[in-house]
Amino acid sequence: QKAEWAKLVHEKTVTSDGYHVELAANIGTPDDVKGVLENGAEGIGLYRTEFLYMGRSELPTEEEQFEAYKTVLERMEGKPVVVRTLDIGGDKELPYLDLPKEMNPFLGFRAIRLCLEMQDMFRTQLRALLRASVYGNLKIMFPMIATLDEFRQAKAILLEEKEKLQREGVPVADDIEVGMMVEIPAAAVLADQFAKEVDFFSIGTNDLIQYTMAADRMNERVSYLYQPYNPAILRLISNVIDAAHKEGKWAGMCGEMAGDAIAIPILLGLGLDEFSMSATSILRARSQMKKLSKEEAASFKETVLSMSTAEEVVAFVKQKFHIE
Ligand code: PEP
Ligand code: MG
Repeated sequence: QKAEWAKLVHEKTVTSDGYHVELAANIGTPDDVKGVLENGAEGIGLYRTEFLYMGRSELPTEEEQFEAYKTVLERMEGKPVVVRTLDIGGDKELPYLDLPKEMNPFLGFRAIRLCLEMQDMFRTQLRALLRASVYGNLKIMFPMIATLDEFRQAKAILLEEKEKLQREGVPVADDIEVGMMVEIPAAAVLADQFAKEVDFFSIGTNDLIQYTMAADRMNERVSYLYQPYNPAILRLISNVIDAAHKEGKWAGMCGEMAGDAIAIPILLGLGLDEFSMSATSILRARSQMKKLSKEEAASFKETVLSMSTAEEVVAFVKQKFHIE
């Protein structure tokens, strides 16, 4: 099987009925790009930049960040690279920021909430990204967006920094797509409104599932509630994809679910455009995708969305798509 997969490294991901989907990889550091290329990913769908900030005693400088982003963009040779701005807080702490302990860190001061308040830190990252943008195909996305106002503020700050750089005579790409992660149920429900203003969505199921089911993604005791195939989750995902397409935008997914063998036929049927997963899952996913018919998968959309339990969904998909 491994040998069969290895032959797919340089292939595009095309379904049996000729539909192209983008298989991208998630990375945490520039060193991860090696694995991305070896496994034939068509792009990077999530660069988690928080690792630049972790395991050290002070904030990374603009220069350090610029070098990291430039390296990734150059090594990807024009393939799309979606960089997520700092998503700190929750399970990821930064000791040197000295933030007060919170009762509910996952519901607290984190990610874009923190960046919109600690703007110096946010602007430094955005400047580094904008400067690096001329070295490849950069797309920027904001994490944990709950309201349109947050997205608008973040985008306005990005545009301010872009204009500043241009006034300073620093070259910046002028076609950078700006999108958001959909990982808060409010954003998934209101996706039709967001879709008018974003360039793309990337669905973060790791958090979307925990917030929708009110079940901590790290807590074993409630892991039975962490249900990717719960129809409630599938309806939210479907709503996000449909909303994007109505506005001519694309929708991807960068949560663990995107690389899951049972989820793949469902997501293909719901019309997901980009699947971003760990690099080591790419070839298995490509091999699976090539055997699937998009049209057939789409014909099951309404059936799956009208089911009542995760078990029902799983049993149905396993049977229809011959998954063990
Ligand atoms: C997610 O929430 O699905 C996601 C991709 O982000 P992270 O796992 O970094 O929270
Ligand atoms: Mg997340």
